[in-house]
Amino acid sequence: MSAFDWQRMLLADMPLLFLGEVAFRALFAFVVVFVFLKVSGRRGIRQLSLFELVVILTLGSAAGDVSFYDDVPLLPVAMVFVTLLVLYRATVMTMRRSERFSDWMEGKPVTIIKDGLYELNSLDHLNISSDEFFMELRQQGVEHLGQVRLGILETDGDMSLYFFAAHEVKPGLSVLPGAHRSEHQQVPEAGTYACVRCGYTQPMSSGQQACCPRCAQRSWSPALSHERLR
Ligand SMILES: [Zn+2]
Repeated sequence: MSAFDWQRMLLADMPLLFLGEVAFRALFAFVVVFVFLKVSGRRGIRQLSLFELVVILTLGSAAGDVSFYDDVPLLPVAMVFVTLLVLYRATVMTMRRSERFSDWMEGKPVTIIKDGLYELNSLDHLNISSDEFFMELRQQGVEHLGQVRLGILETDGDMSLYFFAAHEVKPGLSVLPGAHRSEHQQVPEAGTYACVRCGYTQPMSSGQQACCPRCAQRSWSPALSHERLR
């Protein structure tokens, strides 16, 4: 074998007409996926649940293979399509009838923030760090947790936020990136500080070290108290 052999790279030993077959195969794959999305009744991908994503990925993989591998026949892919569709319909129907099954498949909304504090049980259970929510919070115009009355992680991965009115905002943990937020084991000056893990705030004096009474963690960040302008 020689490197950069253009015949091998572009077509290998296929005849040029195989490109025509590829066009037909791609059309077949396109129709299969399109019909699936139409028949399943989804309106867009933003509302795809984990379960639907699995179905789409499986179908996508089958449709991808059939579109350009000369040795993948068309009918088995049609069978994948029919099987997935039957499974999908059956699952959706069962989910409609049984709330327990539905919760198990799709999950439940989880409360992440309550009264300006992280719900540690939720975070531990979800196996994600609070950092992962900071970007989401910033994108929704949040500067610190003291602005947020309630934060709920929806089953589609979106976060729903409910805010304190301007006069109810309290000091809270900054959600800004590291460059705009300092962290200290020993606080440099007197002021109100927030626990970087759970958002608990307390006044601290210059040079003080403290263990968070809520989560037993020892890093503190100056609490912010701006109201939310948006
Ligand atoms: Zn804490």
